[in-house]
Amino acid sequence: MTSIAENLATVRARLRAAEAAAGRPAGAVTLLAVSKTQPAEAVRAAYEAGQTAFGENYVQEGVAKAQALAELPLDWHFIGPIQSNKTRAIAEHFAWVHSVDRLKIAQRLAEQRPAPLPPLQVLIQVNIDDEASKAGVSPAELPALAQAVAALPGLTLRGLMCIPRPGNVEAFQGLAKTLQDLHATIPGLDTLSMGMSDDLEAAVATGATLVRIGTAIFGARAYPTSPTP
Ligand SMILES: *Cc1c(COP(=O)(O)O)cnc(C)c1O
Repeated sequence: MTSIAENLATVRARLRAAEAAAGRPAGAVTLLAVSKTQPAEAVRAAYEAGQTAFGENYVQEGVAKAQALAELPLDWHFIGPIQSNKTRAIAEHFAWVHSVDRLKIAQRLAEQRPAPLPPLQVLIQVNIDDEASKAGVSPAELPALAQAVAALPGLTLRGLMCIPRPGNVEAFQGLAKTLQDLHATIPGLDTLSMGMSDDLEAAVATGATLVRIGTAIFGARAYPTSPTP
């Protein structure tokens, strides 16, 4: 059995090696530990090994963990599909959202972000593979959505996220190019959320600034049929 601390050390070493291979400075890429389906105690173990940014896919599960670990200085990122009846909980409990893909959701998050909190840091999820079945805005519709999201109060648009088909590393290049194109009209975008346990090297090579790693840190997930509370 490998411990979470050992797994984290291995993932960090992979990241450092990928950064060096790409000629990027050490620490250029943020490591997001994806803790979906994992208990709060696993998050605590990762925190004790120096990890502070965690990603969750299910709202209730993420909020429960954030509340259970409220005494720790953690940054919670919401990375799952967003239903409009869940936006308030996301706006109140998360620092980042990676999966905004329509204006209605962004508007609700903006309205519901509590004033005392800093702006919600937002990424737009892009359907870079162009698969009808998957979440994310199409590249064609992205510029208009990005303009509208960037104009909302209570949110800061930071960049883009994608979940390509396994093995489709060309998608990473596509997302990097898409972000570059957006720079012309929206300055200040600095985040490319792409790369998971199996393809973090390819993502770092093509400009990822944040990789989302679950299994390589926490081990296999149980894949519950419904979100665990
Ligand atoms: C589960 C998940 C991850 C982590 O995937 P691993 O293959 O376990 O590293 C990353 N991003 C999203 C959006 C996920 O849902």
